[in-house]
Amino acid sequence: MNLQHASIEELQQWEAKLLTEYNHYCEQAIALDLTRGKPSSDQLSLSDDLDGSLKGNYFSQDGTDTRNYGGLDGIAEARQLGADLLGVNTSEVLAQGNSSLTLMFYTMFAARDFGLATKPAWNTEATIKFICPVPGYDRHYTVCEKLGIEMITVPMTATGPDMDAVEALIKSDSTIKGMWCVPKYSNPTGVNYSDETVERIAKLGTITSKNFLVFWDNAYAVHDFNEYKPLANIMDFTRQYDTEDSVVQFASTSKITYAGSGVAFIASSTANLNALKEVLNVLTIGPDKVNQLRHLRLFPTLDVLLEHMKKHADLLKPRFECVLTHLNNAFSDNDLGQWESVEGGYFISFNSRNGLAKKIVKLATDAGVKLTPAGATFPYGNDPSDNNIRIAPSVPSLEEVDQAMKIFVICVRLASVQQQLQAN
Ligand code: PMP
Repeated sequence: MNLQHASIEELQQWEAKLLTEYNHYCEQAIALDLTRGKPSSDQLSLSDDLDGSLKGNYFSQDGTDTRNYGGLDGIAEARQLGADLLGVNTSEVLAQGNSSLTLMFYTMFAARDFGLATKPAWNTEATIKFICPVPGYDRHYTVCEKLGIEMITVPMTATGPDMDAVEALIKSDSTIKGMWCVPKYSNPTGVNYSDETVERIAKLGTITSKNFLVFWDNAYAVHDFNEYKPLANIMDFTRQYDTEDSVVQFASTSKITYAGSGVAFIASSTANLNALKEVLNVLTIGPDKVNQLRHLRLFPTLDVLLEHMKKHADLLKPRFECVLTHLNNAFSDNDLGQWESVEGGYFISFNSRNGLAKKIVKLATDAGVKLTPAGATFPYGNDPSDNNIRIAPSVPSLEEVDQAMKIFVICVRLASVQQQLQAN
């Protein structure tokens, strides 16, 4: 389907044919959902052995009764797992409750109002800005919005954020206090940051103010569909550049075990963790250590956890392949859409022709396929090119993903043909 070289008659014929196909789907009571990156029930069931894994033994390796109060840092074996997951020393990681997003919010809050290892607190200045690679994760944006932090966008490339743009921005604007990163199977582009990108991010702390903070949200650290490919180690790079205080890492077992009942980790310099604990200590007497122990009985080592991830991959990979096959078949030989071929994580990011994302999402919704609202992948919900759509195929069955993608392709084609007709 080459729209630019098509005659008006051809475009009208395509439109009529696509409308017939589209209306056919609209008449059926289809209800499919490709919105949020959640594990399916089958994936959740892979961890049902958590239940009962303690067999009445609530004591951690060092003899702590996990049922009791205390242990703000998390139990030692959970911290070890977090350290292995994030490539840091055990003293540089805390194991906490079920949500890494909570830890991100509270780290942002603490840096803004109290300051971490490197002071001053951000709120000693009138304006606080953060760099957001786009498209990105909507909940990162809402953290910034809630805390009154202005967001500045930089484009994502196939190797991570456009680092020339990032470096230029922070050199020219000292009110920029940090940057969001989803370095592995990025939400939503599915891109992995290259070694060079990881190194350049670790180095940012040398070219800007001391209280600059990278939020390194490694939510998909072990979520490979094929073999496990760890990222370059950012903590090692920060040691090299003496910038350990400029990076805070996050991860959780939300998409390893139970999304609503997992263990979250935060890793940084011990100086940063100590500053964070001064605030954490006010919020809680200690995390859910029983759940941490439960997890460690199931995954005593990172290797065991990686084996478990292969079972997730068996369920996820066919769904992603289905989406990619539909996209390849429909759009690889024309300019109607672009995407990255992902090998892990939870998302595929589709770029339509400019000005069509909202229309495509509406067409799909009306035909019974729910998609993440257009714009959600940009700060303030504002996708200036109105072309980015996030596809999250983990929850529907393979047959449902197949049907949803048939409809999606028709919606993209229909919106594109109608746009071309208007332009002609
Ligand atoms: N970060 C990213 C990039 C995510 O995609 C998600 C879930 N969609 C989260 C964090 C949420 O993590 P948690 O469940 O640990 O709060």
